Amino acid sequence: MAGLEDLYREIILDHYRAPRNRGELAVPPAHKVEGFNPLCGDEIVLYLDVDTTTSTVSDVKIGGQGCSISQASSSMMSAAIKGKPIDEVRGLIRTFKALMSIHESKLEGESDTEALERDLEGGVGDLGDLAALQGVVKFPVRIKCATLAWNTLQQGLDEAAAG
Ligand code: ZN
Repeated sequence: MAGLEDLYREIILDHYRAPRNRGELAVPPAHKVEGFNPLCGDEIVLYLDVDTTTSTVSDVKIGGQGCSISQASSSMMSAAIKGKPIDEVRGLIRTFKALMSIHESKLEGESDTEALERDLEGGVGDLGDLAALQGVVKFPVRIKCATLAWNTLQQGLDEAAAG
């Protein structure tokens, strides 16, 4: 399936070259969370505006630097969550992380991924372009590059919920 792999690479490169939602937001009201992946040197600075009356992510900006996978992942993440209800965003985090842990198990040669795949419950369809990340992550160590933005987002949501 070289065609599909080319498409995936194209999606990743597009987000890497023209990252969405780059910048900063005023803190407060925005929450600022930093994430770091020491295995690769990837950094992300996430600015998250949460509207507590409507329970939505009203705005998001991304700073930081790193490899193409980490940068594309944070760009895609920002585009996927902006303006979305927090419940939906938390669902996306779960789905994306489940997808990546299944992928990690497969890369490590484990065949018993049935339980993990059940967790997904067909949610991959909601991920859109994000599924492309699975196509370009070829080594278990790169999983951390792909999930950095999402772990940072989870932390940001938890901090926003705490006030
Ligand atoms: Zn990386």
